[in-house]
Amino acid sequence: MCGSFLSSLHESFLGLRELFFPRRCVVCGRFLSAGETDICESCLEELPLTYQWDIVQNAAFERLARRFEVEAAASLFFFGSESDYRKIIYGIKYGGRRKLARRMGRLLGLKLAGSREFRRCQAVVPVPLHPLRRWKRGYNQAEEIARGIADAMGLPLETRLLRRHRYTRTQTRLRGEAKTKNVQGAFRTDPQRAALLQADSIRYLLLIDDVLTTGSTLAACADPLRDAGFHISAATLGFAGG
Ligand SMILES: [Zn+2]
Repeated sequence: MCGSFLSSLHESFLGLRELFFPRRCVVCGRFLSAGETDICESCLEELPLTYQWDIVQNAAFERLARRFEVEAAASLFFFGSESDYRKIIYGIKYGGRRKLARRMGRLLGLKLAGSREFRRCQAVVPVPLHPLRRWKRGYNQAEEIARGIADAMGLPLETRLLRRHRYTRTQTRLRGEAKTKNVQGAFRTDPQRAALLQADSIRYLLLIDDVLTTGSTLAACADPLRDAGFHISAATLGFAGG
């Protein structure tokens, strides 16, 4: 009897919490049902997937190949400036939705795990945040996405190889050339960590960011990694301008 009383109390507590703090879909804003987290089933079903993991010379690959020698590239979904799916990225980046970042990362990781193009990847490397920005935000969104991808692909997550040594302006409001100049030379590799990985025969890395817009951030990361002798593939959740 005590147990059923407690469970009904628990249920009414959950009901009350729903009443005062209703959970809404990050994309369409509708109330979420009990089994849903962050995104409702129908928004998840309608996620505008790119299918770039099935296409060798896809739009993500071509965008990056203009900037550096990239092995393979893919984004999970398209988002234009009008798309509500942009809210997934905002939620992950500025809304503290860490779990959503991991979950979307796992979704992308499953696609990449089934792709021939990405089978050579040996470790997953997130684009680092400057320590000051990481401290302000509480976490690095690219690292959370990379954690989900690493999980799904059964690969190690590598966070000590690449460092952001310069504090740069946020890329969100910059365009074209200004973006490239803003991040150029902002990243360095740790030579000791690079030597350690290469002693373990790890040479093929999968670089992860939240979105692919001009490709300047991924290129700024790929340059020092390639100089250190690594081969680079890249993946992001969002693909801008699709
Ligand atoms: Zn929805």
